[in-house]
Amino acid sequence: MKSWGIFVMIVWFLGTSPSFAQSGLEVFWVDVEGGGATLAVTPAGETILIDTGFPGPRDAEHIIEILKNEAGKDRIDHLIVSHFDLDHYGGTADLLERVPIGQIYDPGYPDDLHPVWGKGLERYREAVGEDRIVLRPGDRLPLKQHPEGPELSVRCLGAAQRFIPAREGCPSNPLCSESVSKATDTSQNANSTVILFEYGSFDFLDAADLTWNLEKELVCPCNLVGKVDVYQADHHGLDQSNHPVLVRSIEPTVAVCNNGPRKGPGPETFKTLTGTGSIQAIYQIHWNLDNAEGGNTNPRRIANPKGEMNYDFLALRVAPGGETYEMRVPSKGTVDNFRTKN
Ligand SMILES: [Zn+2]
Repeated sequence: MKSWGIFVMIVWFLGTSPSFAQSGLEVFWVDVEGGGATLAVTPAGETILIDTGFPGPRDAEHIIEILKNEAGKDRIDHLIVSHFDLDHYGGTADLLERVPIGQIYDPGYPDDLHPVWGKGLERYREAVGEDRIVLRPGDRLPLKQHPEGPELSVRCLGAAQRFIPAREGCPSNPLCSESVSKATDTSQNANSTVILFEYGSFDFLDAADLTWNLEKELVCPCNLVGKVDVYQADHHGLDQSNHPVLVRSIEPTVAVCNNGPRKGPGPETFKTLTGTGSIQAIYQIHWNLDNAEGGNTNPRRIANPKGEMNYDFLALRVAPGGETYEMRVPSKGTVDNFRTKN
């Protein structure tokens, strides 16, 4: 009887426990020298890439390196292009030449493009073809779910300057009255797609390069996002974005800047992030060489060495069930653990 009991335990352990124990949600911030490239691996093993960095082989190959070596995958199941600036959609055709991509989503082609940052749209159109989906506020990615643990939802809260409606009875946000506006943003950044990952009680917000006045619309008069655990600082941490009312309303525990050596975090953003009481840790891909006077986080939380391009990355792993998570800076051996807020 005793040996049967042990046998049953071993079968149970091999059959269920390891697969759940190895699941959870992973996110990697790939260094694309101040562009966007956020790669997620879902608990069910699908891959979601938000943005493809700049055109050319460099960023596409760094994304594939992380995809294969860190995530252990060989295809991208879902690609979300957040907006049509070259540091976000530029690498799409280069990626398509190198790796299979399932479904591509974008916020819809704009009428006018920046003379420099819009160059490359023809190549994108040709490479992507007709098989793309224009994301609208409220859309959810059709994801496979892990049979155990909570559901993962990846939802579009906003795109092309439109947002999800406020839920009925949503209380007005008291922080809105103190906020100041900036000049209307006529760039493509304003069209950025806003994506919220929800896994159990864990929440991660990636709003790409959304700018100041639109960030305010996300949380005023009613907070459409809720509270999050991890906030990818908007727009590489630049000061045209990261409205204090947004950051204070969503109360992140962790902020991540996918910045370049001379592209964020700006002094105003850095002040906002360090002055928001909920934030326990800020992570950067690069040292900010333009902002040396106290404008960088703790060096153990900066992936690349000062002034160098090592293409080191940042990683997040949310434990199965979503109750705890760790932030890793592999190049520094840093591992920080956090408890998910409820
Ligand atoms: Zn950008």
